[in-house]
Amino acid sequence: MSILDAKPIVAIATAPGRAGIGIIRLSGLALGPLIHALLGQDLKPRHAHFLPFRDGDGGTIDEGIAIHFPGPHSYTGEDVLELQGHGGPAVLRRLLQRCLEAGRVHGLRLAAPGEFTQRAFLNGRLDLAQAEAVADLIDASSEAAARSAVASLSGVFSAKVNDLADRITHLRILVEATLDFPEEEIDFLEKYQAAATLAGLREELADILAKTRQGVALRDGLKVVLAGEPNVGKSSLLNALAGEDIAIVTPIAGTTRDKVTQEIHLDGVPLHIIDTAGLRDTDDIVESLGIERSWNEIANADIVLHLQDARLPIQAISARILAHCRPGVPVLQVFNKIDLVEKESGTAWQPAPDTVPVQPENGQTGTHHALTTIGISAKRGDGLDALRQQLLQLAGWTPGEASPWLARARHVEALNLASAHLEIAALHAAQNDTVLDLFAEELRLAHDALGEITGKVSSDDLLGMIFSSFCIGK
Ligand code: GDP
Ligand code: ZN
Repeated sequence: MSILDAKPIVAIATAPGRAGIGIIRLSGLALGPLIHALLGQDLKPRHAHFLPFRDGDGGTIDEGIAIHFPGPHSYTGEDVLELQGHGGPAVLRRLLQRCLEAGRVHGLRLAAPGEFTQRAFLNGRLDLAQAEAVADLIDASSEAAARSAVASLSGVFSAKVNDLADRITHLRILVEATLDFPEEEIDFLEKYQAAATLAGLREELADILAKTRQGVALRDGLKVVLAGEPNVGKSSLLNALAGEDIAIVTPIAGTTRDKVTQEIHLDGVPLHIIDTAGLRDTDDIVESLGIERSWNEIANADIVLHLQDARLPIQAISARILAHCRPGVPVLQVFNKIDLVEKESGTAWQPAPDTVPVQPENGQTGTHHALTTIGISAKRGDGLDALRQQLLQLAGWTPGEASPWLARARHVEALNLASAHLEIAALHAAQNDTVLDLFAEELRLAHDALGEITGKVSSDDLLGMIFSSFCIGK
């Protein structure tokens, strides 16, 4: 976001095309004279005036409603004028042209994309996370995303981040104050229960981080990769989930040589389902390129569905798949074609005890993979609802819970950074001989990382807070 000039700006605010109503918006520091020149009269603040919009020769372009929102109580914090006319593109273009003519002497120019919101941010009407939410609300592709964008816009997310930042600052103020009085340094950690406070802060941050990750998933969608050997039913499952024939399904192994992606919405959560070439050893060069790409998709996946033939025991490839995904990525063991199991054995399919996959080859351990087994028939549709529920759960979605805020990858990055600094601070605090200024420095870095989210990192702020909450005489 670079700062352009402070000249008044104008733009058509409604979507292009025919519509019942179209809005032109102007923003500037002192629009009064411009409004008079444009409309031939002054407007009562925040009052809807019904009047003709005339061209320079006095001919009527349209008639409609004009509203003047004087700054600072407007969207941008500047004077804002809204002209609501009759939607058609030709009329709006003429009206826009007329505004530019009448405003030329006042420096009026066309607004750059997002410039109204940028001004709102610069004038303190919105913080950075809220400004981003404006764009996300406009782009929201599902109701759930829109609800969460509104939550971000109204400042729910910012408030959480600000609260955490304030609490970090508070702890820092205590540390900095103690630094000025070296004889008290030793007692500091105990006296202010710094370790316990820090532990509380880290817990809170972890909670915000988890919800923010969900918010990113809601905005950007999750990559769900269908992996497995040829012919296990990956393409059939993609089609079943998407409800259309997108991928080619054939009984010949090795048909899906390129990836096919389909976006579906589960409860408003966008999922990018990626069908991949079947994993197997092959001499076919084209096929092996496809397989190479499959491994890359697995490496980039947010969730992996490892498809297998339900009639066979778990395949050795399972361990390789686990080894290829990023830490924390859940791998769901999906046994397909349970209809054939039932047909051949006459009994319902049951997950066999040996369906628990072996540990990954690279020795990664522990909590990072959710190893769940599920039986489906892509052909008949059995188990698909359960699979959808599983996907939502793996996406971190709790049905019926209040929507979290919408968030962006940069927010998660900033929170991760803050979390890393708090972790180092905790290590310092745990030492026998805590070096207080190192401890304080980590708190400062954590605070700055949070400040990046709302766009208000400033060490002057902090100094102000320190001085205002401590009198020198102590
Ligand atoms: P891919 O190579 O893993 O993508 O597998 P496909 O989706 O192309 O399916 C391979 C073959 O298995 C096709 O003949 C499908 O009709 C069949 N198939 C897929 N899913 C099922 C299922 O649930 N039940 C049965 N009976 N056949 C299936
Ligand atoms: Zn396929």
